[in-house]
Amino acid sequence: MLSFEDARRAVEEHAAEIRAACKDAHTQNTETLDLLSAAGRVLAESVGADRDIPPFPRATRDGYAVRSADLAKLPATLDVIAEIKAGAQPGEIPSQVKSGQAAAIMTGAPVPAGADAIVMVEYTSRQDKPAAIARVEISRSVAPGENIVARGAEAKSGSPLLAAGCQLNHAAIALAASVGKSRLEVYVRPRVAVLTTGDEIVDLDTEPGPTQIRNSNSYSLAVQIQQAGGEPVLLPIAPDEPKRLRELIVDGLRPDLLLMTGGVSMGRYDLVEQVLAEMKAEFFFTGAKIQPGRPVVFGRVRASKGDRLSAASGAQKKPAPEGRKTSPLSRTYFFGLPGNPVSTMVTFELFARPMLKALAGMLPRQLIFLHAKLKSEIRSKTGLKRFLPATLSGEFENAKVELVRWQGSGDIAATASANCYIVIPPDRENIPAGDWVAVLMR
Ligand code: AMP
Ligand code: MG
Repeated sequence: MLSFEDARRAVEEHAAEIRAACKDAHTQNTETLDLLSAAGRVLAESVGADRDIPPFPRATRDGYAVRSADLAKLPATLDVIAEIKAGAQPGEIPSQVKSGQAAAIMTGAPVPAGADAIVMVEYTSRQDKPAAIARVEISRSVAPGENIVARGAEAKSGSPLLAAGCQLNHAAIALAASVGKSRLEVYVRPRVAVLTTGDEIVDLDTEPGPTQIRNSNSYSLAVQIQQAGGEPVLLPIAPDEPKRLRELIVDGLRPDLLLMTGGVSMGRYDLVEQVLAEMKAEFFFTGAKIQPGRPVVFGRVRASKGDRLSAASGAQKKPAPEGRKTSPLSRTYFFGLPGNPVSTMVTFELFARPMLKALAGMLPRQLIFLHAKLKSEIRSKTGLKRFLPATLSGEFENAKVELVRWQGSGDIAATASANCYIVIPPDRENIPAGDWVAVLMR
């Protein structure tokens, strides 16, 4: 039984191994997508600047392009020799702004040679007289370089902007657009098998008997897998019976990662660990000092690879893309997540997500909790790190958080009404209202 931090580090170490193995073997599958279809996916190429950014010295204010030295004495009156708008053609830009001169200029327009700063229009007054040369009176000085972004200051032509492994959020997509990339090469999503276990569990097409429970874990996991960049492969429900369970585990090891739920506690019919041990699995941990989710299991086992699941599994899956390369990993990682629905959700977040991200080709990112002020007191028992469903509210800088009432880690309704988890360290007993507490967002 590991502490939460040690268990998390164990996962991160294996995630790093996956990254290294995939990098060395160059086996990660990729596909090329239109820019917007690539949003949310993981970049498989590096994207560089196709020219200097900005490609010309860019005015960042509306005003007048001047020589800053001309404004040593104020007010100063300068001759206005041109008006330069954004997108001005080279012929419309004066070749030189000389001492005593200024050019009216708009935000986003190229700054003419000779000028070294922009005075904001707010500090100027125009003195146009008919038939006379236009003049401007300036009431504020500027430092050299003020309100100008020099050519290439944001990036030099050819310099890298996005690295393989970055997840393409809106800013990354904007950056790709800014260098003219209308298509991007991304990693193919890793496939994650989901195997739920339990004699009492029935799927949605079956009317549950009086003591049966509908399968919800496969569905929460499928959504979490998709959100983490994976493609879920739902297997049929496994009974608490070793032979059939083993068959389904064998099938579940063919994709890139196997997530099982249920059957990892101490009960007589909790067979997952036993079956995996018979298959000579390596276990990295078989419990973590957390609540919910204490019996969580992490390991790997040799698997016969291939895209076809056996007919016995009856799993619905799309055929793998043509020419899909096989994984360099001879063993498939698995998690045995405890079956209580909230335990399943929490242990996915804490442990399965970083593995999935590594398989997806994503660069590592450490788990960070945010902080919020506790709205009402918490009484807790010591010994386990707790991740309890909670509601984050408040506004702007005033984040407040409080636990939702729940009936324990089987309470899906309470968890669905929550929007985060409060993280309680194992040594805290009472936390008074007004204390800052750590929060795991979801
Ligand atoms: P287990 O981890 O197998 O001991 O299961 C713990 C609790 O979670 C039991 O009350 C199960 O009925 C419930 N449970 C297990 N699997 C699922 C599932 N797929 N969907 C909903 N509840 C489940
Ligand atoms: Mg069970």
